[in-house]
Amino acid sequence: MSTLHPTLQPMYETVLRRNPGEVEFHQAAHEVLESLRPVVDKRPEFVDASIIERICEPERQIIFRVPWVDDSGKVRINRGFRVEFNSALGPYKGGLRFHPSVYLGIVKFLGFEQIFKNALTSMPIGGGKGGSDFDPKGRSDGEIMRFCQSFMTELYRHLGEYTDVPAGDIGVGGREIGYLFGQYKRITNRYEAGVLTGKGLSWGGSQVRTEATGYGTVFFVHEMLRARKTDFDGKKVVVSGSGNVAIYAAEKVAQLGGTVIALSDSGGYIVQEGGIDLDAVKELKEVRRGRISEYAEKRDARFVADGCIWDVPCDIALPCATQNELDESGAGALVKNGCIIVAEGANMPTTPEALRVLRRGGIEFAPGKAANAGGVATSALEMQQNASRDTWTFEYAEERLHDIMQGIYGTCAMTAEEYGMPGDYVAGANIAGFIRVADAMLALGV
Ligand code: GLU
Repeated sequence: MSTLHPTLQPMYETVLRRNPGEVEFHQAAHEVLESLRPVVDKRPEFVDASIIERICEPERQIIFRVPWVDDSGKVRINRGFRVEFNSALGPYKGGLRFHPSVYLGIVKFLGFEQIFKNALTSMPIGGGKGGSDFDPKGRSDGEIMRFCQSFMTELYRHLGEYTDVPAGDIGVGGREIGYLFGQYKRITNRYEAGVLTGKGLSWGGSQVRTEATGYGTVFFVHEMLRARKTDFDGKKVVVSGSGNVAIYAAEKVAQLGGTVIALSDSGGYIVQEGGIDLDAVKELKEVRRGRISEYAEKRDARFVADGCIWDVPCDIALPCATQNELDESGAGALVKNGCIIVAEGANMPTTPEALRVLRRGGIEFAPGKAANAGGVATSALEMQQNASRDTWTFEYAEERLHDIMQGIYGTCAMTAEEYGMPGDYVAGANIAGFIRVADAMLALGV
């Protein structure tokens, strides 16, 4: 890891000391602190008011037991988390992740990223994140429902449309949000639609919320391409993952004239040079909840079980699966094969070493907190519709998303330039997001 500004180094050491073993959080904090080097000299008032130390310490961390009964009648226990990281700009906002890898360090890294991401959207939302080490894979619908009900039976007391507003993330989609919302409503006897986002369209959800993260990432890349005086036409795109983010990123790439030639899941990846049939992937993943390998069985596509998706030559790579999925050797392969842009649809999918390789290789890079902010931005649009008891059309919601992503791109590009690092979207995103939150924290007092 590179060295930090001497003022920031002790703050990073405090993060290490206070959060032992939470390596993903350390990684996320280091990356932001690295970017804040020029801010320390330009805005000394942030240092004087200890804003940087404060921003690294969550306002509240909740850990709870989640007991539930499986289909065989056995009582199971999982651990639930909600980290309410920062509420300077609005109620805590961020998803819930259900995955066996979830522990406090993952929730904290995600919550920390969420603060700056949410600030970049310019919407009035603070940062938070939650989840559980529950593994939804192979669980029946009844088991998922009982788990969600138990999770909400504890979490509801910490939520509220003006307090903390969760949504989905890995392992939490429309079905889970439905069970969570049902339980919140049952316990509180309030139809408080704005307490959760990602709801179904007939009960308070927003058009485009499902598509928003993936679409938004591609809108961001489109701006990067426009700055290079080109577009998606004829570009080959590799997208890792085949969840919500990946599928809708792929859909928007295809709509804008690009060709998605590879997708993956935890079992391997598929390659189809002529372009992947996205309707078939949607049916496979969203309806049948099957494996990506099944796609290749009936088609002119190759399935690779134990390779690396970044070895597939492409013009644009969109890591849309999970944290640290793009490592140094993957980055090396992208550079070697002439890739021009990497944009993160997932949260922190690129390791710091991989990022260094991409930079040295001249690849333009869009960090997740800017490129994947379309999901949470559309959640804020859902809250807006709930507050005014309104529902917008698909076209209008998509137009708003598009405007927001253009705005985020402009903010990142301009901030990077202002701080003497043109084209460095990591610095642009971290500095712009930080300053918006830091100014609010200063104004609100200690
Ligand atoms: N989980 C998404 C993210 O990482 C969305 C969060 C939300 O909509 O609150 O930004």
